[in-house]
Amino acid sequence: MANVRLEGITRQFDQITAIEDVTFEVPDGQLWVLVGPSGCGKSTILRMIAGLESMSDGNLFIDDVLVNHVPARQRDVAMVFQNYALYPHMTVQENLSFGLRMRKADRATIEKQVERVARSLDISHLLDRKPKQLSGGQQQRVALGRAIAREPKVFLLDEPLSNLDAQLRDDTRSELKQLHQRLGITTIYVTHDQVEAMTLADQIVVLDRGRIQQIGDPQGIYAQPANRMVATFLGNPPMNVFRGTYTGEGFQVGGQFLPCPSELQIRLQWVPGQLVDLGIRPEYVTLTNHSKQEDADRTGELRMEVKVVEPLGRETLVRGCLPESEVLLDVLAPSDWRGCPGDAFGGSRSDHRVSIQFDLEQLFVFDPTTGDALY
Ligand code: ATP
Repeated sequence: MANVRLEGITRQFDQITAIEDVTFEVPDGQLWVLVGPSGCGKSTILRMIAGLESMSDGNLFIDDVLVNHVPARQRDVAMVFQNYALYPHMTVQENLSFGLRMRKADRATIEKQVERVARSLDISHLLDRKPKQLSGGQQQRVALGRAIAREPKVFLLDEPLSNLDAQLRDDTRSELKQLHQRLGITTIYVTHDQVEAMTLADQIVVLDRGRIQQIGDPQGIYAQPANRMVATFLGNPPMNVFRGTYTGEGFQVGGQFLPCPSELQIRLQWVPGQLVDLGIRPEYVTLTNHSKQEDADRTGELRMEVKVVEPLGRETLVRGCLPESEVLLDVLAPSDWRGCPGDAFGGSRSDHRVSIQFDLEQLFVFDPTTGDALY
């Protein structure tokens, strides 16, 4: 096992800066997830750690040893790719034992190790098959098993579950977590799937356009995102973010008024007229009964026009917009919510207008220019 340290790493491809000044350290035995939208540079970072991609600048240490110029095969890391890359002409048994045979391990050690790995991944019954006789999920387990059998210092996993169907992905994700807890091998895991990131990671590194946006534990990042990008990337459905104008006591949002909590007023010392981006997670917006206007202005109640209602099973996603504005909002309602026709505003039952209530304690404020979280 080993720690992995990146110091000021940059990777330039001609005119494109794919990775810019990336610094972080994964301590021995932890599982870190690199997450971000397509093209943010996740795979490039992983490939540089593996030694499959050169670096333009910076230093990379594995087990506190500088490995900038150490070839991939001498780094003692195992990488599992999205497309498995099993040897098609070898059986599962031969695939699993390949790394050990290359290292000239003795026969008894190889047999014992293969048996142990096969058992832990529930593939013992597949040892005589060739990859093409396996399902996608089975192939994926063999690919993981081949990496585990080598007992590398570091595991690098690049979207290892993306080719699996939804059920198998959930199962394999949970197995991976247990496996990591059992083996304790330092693991760096790349995904664009925020659920995988949230459920697997000791620490998450959120990347965007080649730069680190935030590093933290899943719950910490979710509760205190550093900026608008992180806030909207982690969470499903994502955080609602919309533009508002500060008035002194609150915000004008799509022609309606949202009061500003006094703590926020004191902390931020804004001038009236200032534009801000406000954010609130859908779980902190509730559908409510319509109040008198002065009460609504005081409590942060808004009118919303419902556009789409999506039953999600455990709850219902209600998507709407503030009337005559471009402010779009997602609200999570109880699973049995079927609309609030009696709560229509100045219109008939069919105009789908509802009242929504913000939990103002859960309001985020972002700088509209930089996206940085102000509160
Ligand atoms: P995805 O989730 O789509 O796999 P990613 O976050 O893993 O994306 P990378 O594959 O690391 O992103 O790519 C980061 C950036 O570097 C992209 O803009 C990509 O086009 C660019 N890039 C990667 N490899 C090369 C290359 N060999 N030549 C030129 N540009 C490259």
